Amino acid sequence: MIRNIITLLFLIFALNSFGQKESHTKVLLLMGSRFDITAVSPDQGKALNAIEAGISEIKRIEKLISSWDPNSQTSEIIRNAGIKPVAVDQELFNLIRRSIKISNLTQGAFDISYASLDKIWHFDGEMTELPDSTTVAASVSKINYKNIILDPEKRTVFLKDKGMKIGFGAIGKGYAANKALDIMSKMGLTGALVNASGDLISWGKDEGGKDWKIGIVNPKEKDKIFSWLNINETAVVTSGNYEKFVTINGQTYSHIIDPRTGYPVRGLCSVSIICPNAELADALATSVFVLGKDKGLELINQINGIECLLITDKQELFTSENLHLDYIKKPITNHKYQIKIGDKHAQ
Ligand code: ADP
Ligand code: MG
Repeated sequence: MIRNIITLLFLIFALNSFGQKESHTKVLLLMGSRFDITAVSPDQGKALNAIEAGISEIKRIEKLISSWDPNSQTSEIIRNAGIKPVAVDQELFNLIRRSIKISNLTQGAFDISYASLDKIWHFDGEMTELPDSTTVAASVSKINYKNIILDPEKRTVFLKDKGMKIGFGAIGKGYAANKALDIMSKMGLTGALVNASGDLISWGKDEGGKDWKIGIVNPKEKDKIFSWLNINETAVVTSGNYEKFVTINGQTYSHIIDPRTGYPVRGLCSVSIICPNAELADALATSVFVLGKDKGLELINQINGIECLLITDKQELFTSENLHLDYIKKPITNHKYQIKIGDKHAQ
């Protein structure tokens, strides 16, 4: 059972109840995911305004990048695959350009054109048998980020092959979290945190006036903190194979696809990336998932300022070279609030 192989879940909480700066959180469904949006300020009006501004920003981005909304620019690009280039907003153009950069960095492990497979794999529990290998192979032939042709002058995007698709499932939530937090941080708060179902980024201080703190907790011993991460203006983004998956003939298939084979990747259970930028962290968490433990850690170890913590499906924990966890195994006692990250199915 997948639930039993999850070793860790993440909790964030403020231990300090002194120095009352009020913290306000709104929880809602955006981009098909749960978002927890927190603003800290002694002025409740300011906090609530900032939360609303963050929400509007996420909704705006969703409209631009959604591939299931037929009116989005992304859908327009997909409709014109193999036909003609489509002029898009600079913002979408830049997001696609950054996505291609990450494909280059990861040698194609991350590829937004994975999406030609999205009609083949369904991770909502409806699938009962594996797709046939010919269908998978036909779709894999359409995956290739090198066939996403950008023209910076005309600001157009052209998917070279008919049937090609793009999707921002592995980078969009991180991008939206970055942008929402950026807006909130300019609204006179003392702190803010956006948590998009386990993709989180913080700014400023928590309600106790301290750095935001993430406690990493073993779900089997939920009252024990396994280690601490201080996250001062940092993103922590987790990709897990426990949120969306199907089980066919006793085998679990996760929603992260190896673009080279067209099949869901195996070997890892959860990957967390820690770095200042939630979009990059989001994309790299998915990339490390595809690359696997050795190649994934090798990549992260080469990049300054980006750290990684991963758990294999044998429940072993590995970290990048410079991530020093502070093992204190201390019971959680007087925490004021908790936000569980990435543990929808981890009980
Ligand atoms: P989550 O945060 O939901 O655990 P990820 O950030 O890892 O997940 O994104 C997974 C999603 O990204 C999938 O549901 C799919 O939409 C998309 N995706 C799957 N495989 C790839 C890939 N190799 N490259 C880019 N996007 C992918
Ligand atoms: Mg991701």
